[in-house]
Amino acid sequence: MITLALSKGRIFDEIMPLLAAAGIEVLEDPEKSRKLILATNQPDVRVVLVRASDVPTYVQYGGADMGVCGKDTLIEHSAEWGGAARAGLFLPLDLRIARCRVSVAVRSDFDYEHAVRQGARLRVASKYTAIARDFFATKGVHVDMIKLYGSMELAPLTGLADAIVDLVSTGNTLKANHLVEVERIMDISSHLVVNQAALKLKQAPLRRIIDAFASAIPPAEGG
Ligand code: AMP
Repeated sequence: MITLALSKGRIFDEIMPLLAAAGIEVLEDPEKSRKLILATNQPDVRVVLVRASDVPTYVQYGGADMGVCGKDTLIEHSAEWGGAARAGLFLPLDLRIARCRVSVAVRSDFDYEHAVRQGARLRVASKYTAIARDFFATKGVHVDMIKLYGSMELAPLTGLADAIVDLVSTGNTLKANHLVEVERIMDISSHLVVNQAALKLKQAPLRRIIDAFASAIPPAEGG
Protein backbone atom coordinates (compact mmCIF):
# COMPACT_ATOMS: atom_id res chain seq x y z
CA MET A 1 0.00 0.00 0.00
CA ILE A 2 1.20 3.50 -0.89
CA THR A 3 -0.13 6.31 1.33
CA LEU A 4 -0.07 9.87 0.03
CA ALA A 5 -0.63 12.77 2.50
CA LEU A 6 -2.45 15.80 1.11
CA SER A 7 -4.21 18.82 2.56
CA LYS A 8 -7.63 19.99 1.44
CA GLY A 9 -8.05 23.09 -0.69
CA ARG A 10 -5.61 24.46 -3.23
CA ILE A 11 -3.01 21.69 -2.96
CA PHE A 12 -5.65 18.95 -3.26
CA ASP A 13 -7.27 20.64 -6.27
CA GLU A 14 -4.01 21.39 -8.07
CA ILE A 15 -2.42 17.94 -7.52
CA MET A 16 -5.30 16.21 -9.36
CA PRO A 17 -3.79 16.57 -12.88
CA LEU A 18 -0.47 15.20 -11.59
CA LEU A 19 -2.23 12.24 -9.97
CA ALA A 20 -4.08 11.67 -13.24
CA ALA A 21 -0.70 11.54 -15.03
CA ALA A 22 0.22 8.71 -12.66
CA GLY A 23 -3.08 6.97 -13.48
CA ILE A 24 -4.44 7.74 -10.00
CA GLU A 25 -7.97 9.01 -9.49
CA VAL A 26 -9.27 9.86 -6.01
CA LEU A 27 -12.70 8.28 -5.64
CA GLU A 28 -14.17 10.73 -3.12
CA ASP A 29 -14.52 14.51 -2.94
CA PRO A 30 -13.00 15.70 0.37
CA GLU A 31 -15.30 18.75 0.35
CA LYS A 32 -18.36 16.46 0.38
CA SER A 33 -17.14 13.74 2.71
CA ARG A 34 -15.88 13.70 6.29
CA LYS A 35 -13.60 10.78 5.61
CA LEU A 36 -9.91 11.29 6.28
CA ILE A 37 -8.75 8.28 4.27
CA LEU A 38 -9.76 8.38 0.63
CA ALA A 39 -9.60 5.41 -1.70
CA THR A 40 -8.32 5.75 -5.25
CA ASN A 41 -8.97 3.77 -8.43
CA GLN A 42 -5.74 1.91 -7.64
CA PRO A 43 -6.35 -0.56 -4.80
CA ASP A 44 -2.77 -0.15 -3.53
CA VAL A 45 -2.82 3.68 -3.39
CA ARG A 46 -4.71 5.73 -0.80
CA VAL A 47 -4.82 9.40 0.18
CA VAL A 48 -4.85 10.67 3.78
CA LEU A 49 -6.10 14.20 4.48
CA VAL A 50 -4.03 16.12 7.03
CA ARG A 51 -3.34 19.76 7.84
CA ALA A 52 -0.74 21.23 5.47
CA SER A 53 1.70 21.81 8.34
CA ASP A 54 1.34 18.16 9.45
CA VAL A 55 2.30 16.70 6.04
CA PRO A 56 6.08 16.54 6.76
CA THR A 57 5.40 14.96 10.17
CA TYR A 58 3.23 12.20 8.66
CA VAL A 59 5.87 11.48 6.03
CA GLN A 60 8.78 11.63 8.50
CA TYR A 61 7.26 9.04 10.83
CA GLY A 62 5.91 6.81 8.06
CA GLY A 63 2.21 7.60 8.58
CA ALA A 64 2.42 8.37 4.87
CA ASP A 65 5.01 7.29 2.30
CA MET A 66 4.87 10.58 0.46
CA GLY A 67 3.09 13.92 0.67
CA VAL A 68 2.68 17.31 -0.90
CA CYS A 69 3.18 20.58 0.95
CA GLY A 70 4.40 24.14 0.48
CA LYS A 71 8.05 25.15 0.62
CA ASP A 72 7.07 27.37 3.59
CA THR A 73 5.95 24.30 5.56
CA LEU A 74 9.09 22.38 4.59
CA ILE A 75 11.41 25.20 5.68
CA GLU A 76 9.67 25.51 9.05
CA HIS A 77 9.70 21.71 9.61
CA SER A 78 13.34 21.40 8.51
CA ALA A 79 14.39 24.23 10.85
CA GLU A 80 13.01 22.17 13.75
CA TRP A 81 14.96 19.07 12.70
CA GLY A 82 18.22 20.56 11.44
CA GLY A 83 17.41 19.90 7.81
CA ALA A 84 15.03 17.81 5.73
CA ALA A 85 17.54 14.95 5.32
CA ARG A 86 17.98 14.67 9.08
CA ALA A 87 14.21 14.29 9.36
CA GLY A 88 14.47 11.36 6.90
CA LEU A 89 12.77 13.36 4.17
CA PHE A 90 13.65 13.26 0.48
CA LEU A 91 12.48 16.17 -1.67
CA PRO A 92 12.67 15.00 -5.28
CA LEU A 93 10.38 17.52 -7.00
CA ASP A 94 9.20 21.10 -7.00
CA LEU A 95 5.67 20.49 -8.31
CA ARG A 96 5.18 24.21 -9.10
CA ILE A 97 1.56 24.13 -7.89
CA ALA A 98 -0.27 26.20 -5.22
CA ARG A 99 2.10 29.04 -5.92
CA CYS A 100 2.22 32.12 -3.74
CA ARG A 101 4.84 34.17 -1.89
CA VAL A 102 5.93 34.90 1.67
CA SER A 103 5.92 38.63 2.31
CA VAL A 104 6.26 41.21 5.04
CA ALA A 105 3.13 43.35 5.53
CA VAL A 106 2.40 46.31 7.79
CA ARG A 107 -0.45 48.74 8.47
CA SER A 108 -0.67 51.29 5.68
CA ASP A 109 0.16 54.07 8.17
CA PHE A 110 3.30 52.33 9.54
CA ASP A 111 6.64 53.70 8.30
CA TYR A 112 8.40 50.38 7.69
CA GLU A 113 11.40 51.82 5.81
CA HIS A 114 12.11 54.17 8.68
CA ALA A 115 11.70 51.47 11.32
CA VAL A 116 14.06 49.14 9.48
CA ARG A 117 16.66 51.81 8.68
CA GLN A 118 16.73 53.08 12.24
CA GLY A 119 17.75 49.67 13.50
CA ALA A 120 14.89 49.74 15.97
CA ARG A 121 13.47 46.46 17.25
CA LEU A 122 10.59 45.33 15.13
CA ARG A 123 7.76 43.26 16.58
CA VAL A 124 6.94 40.62 13.99
CA ALA A 125 4.05 38.16 14.19
CA SER A 126 4.10 35.04 12.06
CA LYS A 127 3.34 31.37 11.73
CA TYR A 128 6.57 31.20 9.68
CA THR A 129 9.03 32.10 12.42
CA ALA A 130 12.08 30.35 10.89
CA ILE A 131 11.62 32.12 7.55
CA ALA A 132 10.96 35.48 9.26
CA ARG A 133 13.88 35.17 11.69
CA ASP A 134 16.29 34.27 8.91
CA PHE A 135 15.09 37.09 6.66
CA PHE A 136 15.43 39.82 9.28
CA ALA A 137 18.74 38.41 10.55
CA THR A 138 20.14 38.71 7.00
CA LYS A 139 18.97 42.35 6.91
CA GLY A 140 20.53 42.99 10.33
CA VAL A 141 17.17 43.97 11.81
CA HIS A 142 16.44 42.99 15.42
CA VAL A 143 13.05 41.35 15.78
CA ASP A 144 10.86 40.26 18.64
CA MET A 145 9.09 37.26 17.14
CA ILE A 146 5.52 36.47 18.11
CA LYS A 147 4.34 33.02 17.02
CA LEU A 148 0.77 32.89 15.71
CA TYR A 149 -1.14 30.02 14.11
CA GLY A 150 -3.68 31.97 12.04
CA SER A 151 -5.41 35.30 11.31
CA MET A 152 -2.03 37.02 11.25
CA GLU A 153 -3.58 40.09 9.62
CA LEU A 154 -5.09 40.96 12.99
CA ALA A 155 -1.72 41.41 14.69
CA PRO A 156 -0.80 44.86 13.27
CA LEU A 157 -4.44 46.02 13.56
CA THR A 158 -4.62 45.29 17.28
CA GLY A 159 -1.13 46.55 18.17
CA LEU A 160 0.17 43.03 18.82
CA ALA A 161 2.92 43.51 16.22
CA ASP A 162 4.40 46.10 13.84
CA ALA A 163 4.64 43.67 10.96
CA ILE A 164 3.53 40.22 9.86
CA VAL A 165 5.21 37.62 7.69
CA ASP A 166 2.52 35.66 5.83
CA LEU A 167 1.62 33.91 2.60
CA VAL A 168 0.23 36.22 -0.05
CA SER A 169 -1.46 35.09 -3.22
CA THR A 170 -3.72 37.75 -4.78
CA GLY A 171 -3.11 40.32 -2.01
CA ASN A 172 -6.85 40.64 -1.41
CA THR A 173 -6.68 39.55 2.24
CA LEU A 174 -4.06 42.22 3.01
CA LYS A 175 -6.05 44.88 1.15
CA ALA A 176 -9.28 44.00 2.95
CA ASN A 177 -7.48 44.54 6.26
CA HIS A 178 -5.75 47.81 5.28
CA LEU A 179 -2.32 46.20 5.24
CA VAL A 180 0.37 46.73 2.62
CA GLU A 181 3.00 44.31 1.34
CA VAL A 182 6.37 45.98 1.93
CA GLU A 183 8.81 43.18 1.12
CA ARG A 184 8.64 39.92 -0.76
CA ILE A 185 10.75 37.33 1.07
CA MET A 186 10.47 34.34 -1.26
CA ASP A 187 8.32 32.62 -3.84
CA ILE A 188 6.54 29.49 -2.64
CA SER A 189 5.26 26.42 -4.42
CA SER A 190 4.37 22.91 -3.32
CA HIS A 191 6.95 20.15 -3.25
CA LEU A 192 6.78 16.38 -3.20
CA VAL A 193 8.18 14.98 0.04
CA VAL A 194 9.05 11.29 0.34
CA ASN A 195 9.98 9.11 3.32
CA GLN A 196 13.57 7.98 2.64
CA ALA A 197 13.08 4.53 4.19
CA ALA A 198 9.84 3.97 2.22
CA LEU A 199 11.69 4.89 -0.98
CA LYS A 200 14.05 1.97 -0.36
CA LEU A 201 11.34 -0.51 0.64
CA LYS A 202 8.77 0.44 -2.02
CA GLN A 203 11.14 1.73 -4.66
CA ALA A 204 9.31 0.65 -7.84
CA PRO A 205 5.80 1.99 -7.07
CA LEU A 206 7.11 5.22 -5.51
CA ARG A 207 9.50 5.87 -8.40
CA ARG A 208 6.67 5.32 -10.86
CA ILE A 209 4.59 8.02 -9.13
CA ILE A 210 7.57 10.42 -8.83
CA ASP A 211 8.37 10.01 -12.55
CA ALA A 212 4.73 10.51 -13.57
CA PHE A 213 4.50 13.68 -11.45
CA ALA A 214 7.76 14.95 -12.97
CA SER A 215 6.32 14.55 -16.47
CA ALA A 216 3.19 16.57 -15.59
CA ILE A 217 4.66 19.55 -13.69
CA PRO A 218 3.27 22.84 -15.04
CA PRO A 219 5.69 25.10 -16.97
CA ALA A 220 8.09 27.33 -15.00
CA GLU A 221 7.01 30.77 -16.17
CA GLY A 222 3.79 32.59 -15.26
CA GLY A 223 1.64 32.45 -12.13
P1 AMP B 1 -4.75 36.27 -0.88
O1 AMP B 1 -5.88 37.06 -0.27
O2 AMP B 1 -5.12 35.66 -2.21
O3 AMP B 1 -3.46 37.09 -0.98
O4 AMP B 1 -4.44 35.03 0.06
C1 AMP B 1 -3.90 35.25 1.32
C2 AMP B 1 -4.46 34.30 2.33
O5 AMP B 1 -4.51 32.98 1.85
C3 AMP B 1 -3.59 34.29 3.57
O6 AMP B 1 -4.38 34.07 4.71
C4 AMP B 1 -2.65 33.14 3.31
O7 AMP B 1 -2.21 32.56 4.52
C5 AMP B 1 -3.51 32.20 2.46
N1 AMP B 1 -2.76 31.60 1.35
C6 AMP B 1 -2.44 32.17 0.17
N2 AMP B 1 -1.80 31.33 -0.64
C7 AMP B 1 -1.70 30.16 0.02
C8 AMP B 1 -1.14 28.88 -0.28
N3 AMP B 1 -0.54 28.62 -1.44
N4 AMP B 1 -1.23 27.92 0.67
C9 AMP B 1 -1.85 28.17 1.83
N5 AMP B 1 -2.38 29.35 2.19
C10 AMP B 1 -2.33 30.33 1.29
